[in-house]
Amino acid sequence: MSEGAAKKGEKPRKFQAIRGTRDLLPPETALWNRVEQTAHEVFGAFGYGEIRPPIFEATELFARGVGGDTDIVSKEMYTLVDRSEKLEPDPSIGSMNVFFQKVRELYKSGEIPTDEQDESALKIAEDQWKKVDDLLEGGLKSESAGTEIYKLVLFYDALRLGTRVSLRPEATASVCRAYIEHNMQQLPQPVKLYYIGPMFRRERPQKGRYRQFYQIGAEVLGGTDAPAIDAEVIEMVMTFFERLELRGVQLSVNSIGCGECRPKYVELLRAELLKVKDKLGPDSQRRIDTNPLRVLDSKLESEQGIIAKLPRIGDHLCKDCADHYAAVKRELDLRGVQYRENWRLVRGLDYYMRTTFEITAQGLGSQDAVCGGGRYDGLVELLGGPPTKGIGFAIGEDRLILSLQEARKEVASGEWRVASGKIGCDVYVAWMGEKAYATAIRAAKTLRAASFSVELPPVEQKFGKALERADKLGAKYALILGDNEVTSGEWTLKTLTDGSQQKVTEPQLLDFLRKL
Ligand code: AMP
Repeated sequence: MSEGAAKKGEKPRKFQAIRGTRDLLPPETALWNRVEQTAHEVFGAFGYGEIRPPIFEATELFARGVGGDTDIVSKEMYTLVDRSEKLEPDPSIGSMNVFFQKVRELYKSGEIPTDEQDESALKIAEDQWKKVDDLLEGGLKSESAGTEIYKLVLFYDALRLGTRVSLRPEATASVCRAYIEHNMQQLPQPVKLYYIGPMFRRERPQKGRYRQFYQIGAEVLGGTDAPAIDAEVIEMVMTFFERLELRGVQLSVNSIGCGECRPKYVELLRAELLKVKDKLGPDSQRRIDTNPLRVLDSKLESEQGIIAKLPRIGDHLCKDCADHYAAVKRELDLRGVQYRENWRLVRGLDYYMRTTFEITAQGLGSQDAVCGGGRYDGLVELLGGPPTKGIGFAIGEDRLILSLQEARKEVASGEWRVASGKIGCDVYVAWMGEKAYATAIRAAKTLRAASFSVELPPVEQKFGKALERADKLGAKYALILGDNEVTSGEWTLKTLTDGSQQKVTEPQLLDFLRKL
């Protein structure tokens, strides 16, 4: 019996979705589709093409692209070793020497990527094997033989022996990798791409924060860093939100300088923070060392007064960055995009520079950021490509949907099918009798071909029952087909919202419904 099969008489285990993941179900998925369809339309109108990168990539890509010391990479990634197929474990212990020799060869040829950690793990396992091998020669009489063999198993398990791959925690690094891999710098620049799909971060789940969540994002790669590009990217997100009628949208912008001016500002900030270190909480105290900019993110009430008095990056931008920032704001004004400036808006990811922005929406509680974005001119080069300008954003689709649903609850609009809790359909075909069934199948086919959504009951139902079910499903019309209708060729169409009824012939049906 396989390991997973339930034993006889045992109650089979009930499975649940893994913590932090969830099923998106109808009717809610209709809203997800509408949101995604709107993204395709709006982003298409701005000249973006869709990219669908894989869901897992080399761990190294994210370590470099997102930053090895960010929480996302150091604590939150789902990583596994994609073991080399050339190293199928050999169960005969006598061939351990051969096994280790094979590993060394594969390390040498580069077929298994290695680092210092792997090398030392291999050495430890090899040494342990020698010890066990000696014990074997002595007939395993030593008292510690069991322990030594157990240790060998542990050390063997610790060998990674393959490429480390991770579920993507975000998609910018993947899009940049694809840009380089497919030589997109040869295309007319800039290249404008968008993506929609799931991301994975092992965060503590709460409302609006999941371990599998969805992002809708876009990147502009190559060409210039003209401020108009930054402004148009922001204008596009705002147009998307407007089209969706997202409520309480607030855009914050900032500039976080460049490789020239930011390090100087960070040092100044660090010096000022050291002066007030005693008054800060433990997280901020630690960040003075690791990443002083992140102190500005703090939501701790007791730190707000102190932070307000810290030096602001806006006063320490170099001339190029200051000019760029001023021009981005002018461009936003030209496009009628309303924004607030927030000097404390520093993005958590290492590669951001100059323009950063964040958008919040209503109905989301503490996790109210629906979109974050910014410029990252050094990223493509960091990933082995040519120097390339870049800017992009990621919208949290789960939060966007939550906010739309919250707003819908307030309006309680009857026409909003999704909010009614019913999937809804256009026509419920109520049929009785064998002859009517053939007609019903034909009617359903015709209606579906004309894009009406149709429910055709698989077994015969009394008309009363059928109408009850049609109502429960939220159908707009019931097409009633019984012997009388089939013989006379005059079908009965009942409008379920007002109970009215009329006769229509088969050729009239489509026109009739289209006019309603
Ligand atoms: P980031 O990639 O961290 O800049 O995030 C961009 C957007 O993705 C955020 O503004 C959120 O809307 C969304 N987001 C990030 N992490 C999560 C998560 N764990 N669950 C749901 N949405 C998230």
